[in-house]
Amino acid sequence: MPAFYDTHAHLDYDEFKPDFAEVLARAQSAGISKIIAIATDFKSSRRALALAEAHEMIHAAVGWHPGNAHEAPADIRPDLRELARHPKAVAIGECGLDYYRLPSSRGGTADEDAHYQRKQAEIFQQQLEVAVELGLNCIIHQRSSFDDIFVQIQPFAKQTQGVFHCFGESAGRLQQILDLGWLVSFTGIVTFKNGQNIRDAVAATPLDKFMLETDCPYLAPVPFRGKRCEPAYVKEISETLAQVKGCSLQELSEATCRTAHQFFRKLG
Ligand SMILES: [Zn+2]
Repeated sequence: MPAFYDTHAHLDYDEFKPDFAEVLARAQSAGISKIIAIATDFKSSRRALALAEAHEMIHAAVGWHPGNAHEAPADIRPDLRELARHPKAVAIGECGLDYYRLPSSRGGTADEDAHYQRKQAEIFQQQLEVAVELGLNCIIHQRSSFDDIFVQIQPFAKQTQGVFHCFGESAGRLQQILDLGWLVSFTGIVTFKNGQNIRDAVAATPLDKFMLETDCPYLAPVPFRGKRCEPAYVKEISETLAQVKGCSLQELSEATCRTAHQFFRKLG
């Protein structure tokens, strides 16, 4: 059975508490041999590292999600450095900018929007700096913020590498990312009936420029759409991706695992 990795899983979320051992066992029987547990703040980073310490197949990304930016201390760098030096911390993230639900969409003012966006940009900047300092790559969260992210990563683009996770943007934006030498990753959306734009993006992405992810507990692929997602479902995602790329599962496995080892260097 070809092996695949789930490069973006929120394994530290409460959704996985009741049956965590079964979730890992199902992943292993589906051929998912490594999982990157993604953090959203420092508490979540510590939980992800604890899972990585307890389970050989799990590694962690440590960082601060832009959606939680308002809760971040002024300077996240000192704690982040310490977390990122853990032997099983393989990336910084998820980090980035998220303009999808600004304060004004919930009755806030334009000033509040500006303040929130500034705070997101500050902690994103700090994470890019730590990534460069420690020689780690970044998991990028982008929502309705592509142009600003693209400006902000320019000075770092040759010193660190990022993966735009849950990629769902246009062909033009895909090309901008690839031209930078950065990567994308695809979730279960690629299996959705209305996911043709994502399948087009997959078709346009060279086999060695993307990775697989679930973003679980969200975005379960067909036929589990709407249910809790889990790493085992990378299998369904891989089947659709192989079909779209016109390659075998074995070729897809070899290419995407090789890319993951190059990107997450501490994976070994
Ligand atoms: Zn995520």
